[in-house]
Amino acid sequence: MPRYFGEIIGTKAILSENDIHHLTHVLRFKVDQEFEVVFNGDIFRSKIVSIHPFCTEVIEKIEADSEFNQKVTLFFCLAKKDKIEFVVQKASELGATNLVLVSSARSVVKLTQTDFERKKQRYMSIAKEASEQCKRTSILSIDGLFELKKIPLDFLCDKNFVAYEENSGSTLHFFNALKEIHFGESVSIFVGPEGGFEKEEIRFLEKNGFQAVSLGKRILRCETAAVYGLSVIGLFLDRL
Ligand code: SAH
Repeated sequence: MPRYFGEIIGTKAILSENDIHHLTHVLRFKVDQEFEVVFNGDIFRSKIVSIHPFCTEVIEKIEADSEFNQKVTLFFCLAKKDKIEFVVQKASELGATNLVLVSSARSVVKLTQTDFERKKQRYMSIAKEASEQCKRTSILSIDGLFELKKIPLDFLCDKNFVAYEENSGSTLHFFNALKEIHFGESVSIFVGPEGGFEKEEIRFLEKNGFQAVSLGKRILRCETAAVYGLSVIGLFLDRL
């Protein structure tokens, strides 16, 4: 059943114009066909009552469990536009709660805050679509753009990891640290840009509570590293 993020007002499910178009023109849904609406983290089974004007009715609230029990944040350094779009989609599917975009010393891509705000609209719509498709009940929040040394402290989690390419090799460290995470503890992973981190940046992050970890014996592209990091974290958190 298709799922959309929308609003519930009284007994009606309210969808955006885009979602109405998707439901009635792309999926060609007719009167009496059912869909799901997520509102404030709750899911409502709903049906179409009329197409012109578009009118709906909530049937019932349904239970579902598609979120982690804790916050999971991905800090991701600026990369080429399509890589960020890829990471927004994959981080959504992999259950991340926050994506914080960071500019670091070796980020090849430079963006002004205004450029970023413009691109953010597109990233937010990719995140919404990905969350609907993978049946989440919340949408990845996209934050930034911050310089690596100016990230507000409230973005830090209970456990913070930085994937450091110079540490590539044994993943035992990461494995053991993930085993120690308790129910409800928030977790973050920081992934560097195409050019990697400067040693001094790693030192700064370590001073601020990040633990440098390896993602294995091979050097991954930044977007692969993000997917790997979030997948491994998910494997542990899903067991709590
Ligand atoms: N150009 C760099 C590699 C950068 S890879 C070099 O040649 O050394 C981009 C980012 O992905 C890195 O900053 C790091 O955060 C992450 N990464 C990739 N492979 C990794 C690995 N094996 N271990 C830890 N982090 C890794």
